Amino acid sequence: MQTLYITHPACHLHEMGNWHPECPGRLDAINDRLVASGLMDFIDEQTAEPATDADLLRVHEPGYIAYLRMHAPTEGYFQVDPDTLMNPHTLEAAWVAAGAGINAVDAVMRQTHRNAFCSVRPPGHHAGPAKAMGFCFLNNIAIAAAYALEKYKLDRVAIIDFDVHHGNGTEETFAGDPRVLMCSFFQHPLFPDHYQDPPAENMVNIPVHAYAKGDELRFLVSDVWMPRLQAFQPQLVLISAGFDGHREDDMGQLGMVESDYAWITEQIVALADETAQGRIISFLEGGYCLSALGRSTEVHIRALAKL
Ligand SMILES: [Zn+2]
Repeated sequence: MQTLYITHPACHLHEMGNWHPECPGRLDAINDRLVASGLMDFIDEQTAEPATDADLLRVHEPGYIAYLRMHAPTEGYFQVDPDTLMNPHTLEAAWVAAGAGINAVDAVMRQTHRNAFCSVRPPGHHAGPAKAMGFCFLNNIAIAAAYALEKYKLDRVAIIDFDVHHGNGTEETFAGDPRVLMCSFFQHPLFPDHYQDPPAENMVNIPVHAYAKGDELRFLVSDVWMPRLQAFQPQLVLISAGFDGHREDDMGQLGMVESDYAWITEQIVALADETAQGRIISFLEGGYCLSALGRSTEVHIRALAKL
């Protein structure tokens, strides 16, 4: 089949308190839409395997991995920062969320599937080599990119991040690495407020003002991302798919709607078809208005699956 859908039951058991927007119900919202729309019948489902330590250590520092293991609670929560907490299932969830990306790299590189969506949490793009933050513990997309570069000896991996927040952990991991081209837009100023201009030549990360709508963002994709991506000729395209730029999502103030997510995904599919034998792996990042998240993820996967 065209598209692989990778998840794991542990991703549903990690939770950070019933007040927290990064909640297990996010995965239910996605699953509900995929089932109700019939789309689930046209994609392959797979259960993620946990990442190995070797997989994590390509991106994260050994002392940080030891810190996470040391502080994983057997009951209650361990607070890493005010909005990032571990419960007794977080460690397993984080490890399989990272492992989903490894499994997806194997699938698209061995060409069992052209592309994959990792429906996982905790998300990853704020996690740095030695730091959990912003609901993220392990940088799932960075771990997948590092694995693809080493295991399959790729020379060029593109990372596209359309979450409303700046993917600061991914940027920190790959800034200055010529094997990776990262393209993003994000609302600015907004959490995590780590953006510096320009951080490195391989970072095409564009701050946008609050209330920017789809037409403005599509222009950035066509006129800024795409020329750089075309010149880079990626062999694999990874997506940090955050849907918190949706107009109904209170976490940010962008004005994206489903048709914008479909359009951006179609542009990425066309690029990957041209340069990367169609290989795309998309990772769930943000998206906190459950209804908008379900609808947006559905159109994103529909575009990946060309349905
Ligand atoms: Zn976000």
